[in-house]
Amino acid sequence: LAAPIPHRRVLLKLSGEALMGDDAYGINRETIEAMVGEIASVVELGVELAIVIGGGNIFRGMAGGATGMDRATADYMGMLATVMNSLALQDALRQKGVVARVQSALKIEQVVEPYIRPKALRYLEEGKVVIFAAGTGNPFFTTDTAAALRGAEMGVEVVLKATKVDGVYTADPMKDPGATRYQRISFDEAIGRNLKVMDATAFALCRDQKLPIRVFSIFKEGALLRAVRGEDEGTLVHV
Ligand code: UDP
Repeated sequence: LAAPIPHRRVLLKLSGEALMGDDAYGINRETIEAMVGEIASVVELGVELAIVIGGGNIFRGMAGGATGMDRATADYMGMLATVMNSLALQDALRQKGVVARVQSALKIEQVVEPYIRPKALRYLEEGKVVIFAAGTGNPFFTTDTAAALRGAEMGVEVVLKATKVDGVYTADPMKDPGATRYQRISFDEAIGRNLKVMDATAFALCRDQKLPIRVFSIFKEGALLRAVRGEDEGTLVHV
């Protein structure tokens, strides 16, 4: 059997919660270091890597809105939370000797450079990791949608969605012990079966752009590297 061909350029979506580890809030040092180790192994492979990181470990617009706060304002706070995570990730990568640049969808130029597509593309070509902060820059969206959007703009071959669950299941594996994991599933089948892979906007964008999504566990050692190598890891959602 021929070895799978590694991807050339990928986008990794990390949820903010992935940085929390076992903590209830914020960024856990050991967790981020372990994650950076996995990312470094991918960079060593020569694969071009773009990252979108969430902010749920610090603030979510929905939660703010639920307390009676203006939803759009709360969403801007959520976007700022992703900037904090992006800076933490960039710094942790730097400590591992991995060069990364942060580009923000919101202008906060004393802190990070703004998103400029051709510049981001050049960084990737130079082998630098590019971290896209502040989501799409718009309230009422999510970082999943930012991942689909930036993934399409960067012309990546796959969106790698790192989550707490190691793939897409027939039912919620936390509630249904009989649930089984799909190795592969088409966009149409996932819609038909009402399976939640990403939020609806992100999912529709990936489907329209024929951009496959691989869902895998952030906690499984070596899973990111296997996913990047195009090996069978988690679930592949394909066109
Ligand atoms: N957010 C937003 N627009 C975007 C991306 C994110 O308003 O394009 C806000 C939104 O309030 C969201 C928060 O930022 O709740 C954090 O992002 P997300 O919930 O996607 O993070 P994750 O769940 O991946 O940690």
